[in-house]
Amino acid sequence: MDEKRCILCNKPYNYKYEMFGRGCLDNLYDLLGFSKSPRIIWNKELNLCTKIAWKNHKFFLNKKKKYALAQKYIALTYLNMMNYEALNDIKEQISNDIKKIKVFSENIVETVSFSLNEIYKLYNYTQKFNEILKEVKKVIWEEVDEKVAEGFIKSLSFIFDETKKANPISYAVFYSMQYTFWQVVVVGGILADMKLSARLLSNSLSIFGKEPHDLVIDDEETITDIKTSEEFNNKIKELIEKYCKDKDKFVGNSLDNEDCKIEFNNEDLFLSIHGSPTNIVIEKNEDETWNVNMEIIDTYDFTDFKNLKEYMTSNNSLLMSIFSSILNNFGVASSEYGVIKPYKVTIKVQQNNYIVK
Ligand SMILES: [Zn+2]
Repeated sequence: MDEKRCILCNKPYNYKYEMFGRGCLDNLYDLLGFSKSPRIIWNKELNLCTKIAWKNHKFFLNKKKKYALAQKYIALTYLNMMNYEALNDIKEQISNDIKKIKVFSENIVETVSFSLNEIYKLYNYTQKFNEILKEVKKVIWEEVDEKVAEGFIKSLSFIFDETKKANPISYAVFYSMQYTFWQVVVVGGILADMKLSARLLSNSLSIFGKEPHDLVIDDEETITDIKTSEEFNNKIKELIEKYCKDKDKFVGNSLDNEDCKIEFNNEDLFLSIHGSPTNIVIEKNEDETWNVNMEIIDTYDFTDFKNLKEYMTSNNSLLMSIFSSILNNFGVASSEYGVIKPYKVTIKVQQNNYIVK
């Protein structure tokens, strides 16, 4: 005799039921909120399917239709428990397939094909994810050492499984978990104190099926951070001394003039702006002061962080280290999923009446 496997948990069983082992059948009664069937009922599986049909206001279905309806309804129940917006389309399609199961309909419509076991496994992944997430949310990133921080992040590496992209249901579920990871663990956790880096990453996280919009950074806090930085002021001074000895204007871009490159020590600025093409215009005023216009126009691409390694020094923090290694690898995976998408970012800094000191 062929070995029977439960279509929910995939474990072998030998009992008269056609779909579920006895343990899963019991659990399904609970999950769907049905009271346990009285002992007198011989086939508790058929009874469950009948109850599901009644709950869907479908009466007199034949057994084949009842069983098909039950599978779709159970799938829908698990998908609802996952509570991800990215699953909405799939849920709607399954609901419509359920509506089409009628006493006199000929075929059972299958707009979405799925295996119940696959959906059950996805549900378990999300449960595991939510449990780990709860712990990771408690981490105080400034206080843990590198090994511990990496351990926490690595414990979530299963959500970056690239093989889950192939199926539309698992794609939506893994997409949603990754989206939550970046939003909660990185933007709201690891980067909590690094406002610009957090904002840039947050903007590249695209809502399921949407594209990120371009970003112009002009908030006072960021601009002031740049203008008051030693690196910015030294750079302007250096450029004026080198290029404006007998000229009143300098125009340069870091792509063809190394002198226009600025490296910020402030880690937030370093992480956000590092290596971005920088355009600098300096003009002399009549009163011997200078007007400075700096413009950074770049494509924000999270996977650029791998280049950080080249610039790491022993002074760099835990953060820089995990960004250039483990988070970068996750970023590559999320870019393939389309969770992280590149976009154009512009930062404009204007400094009038600069005085060379
Ligand atoms: Zn089972």
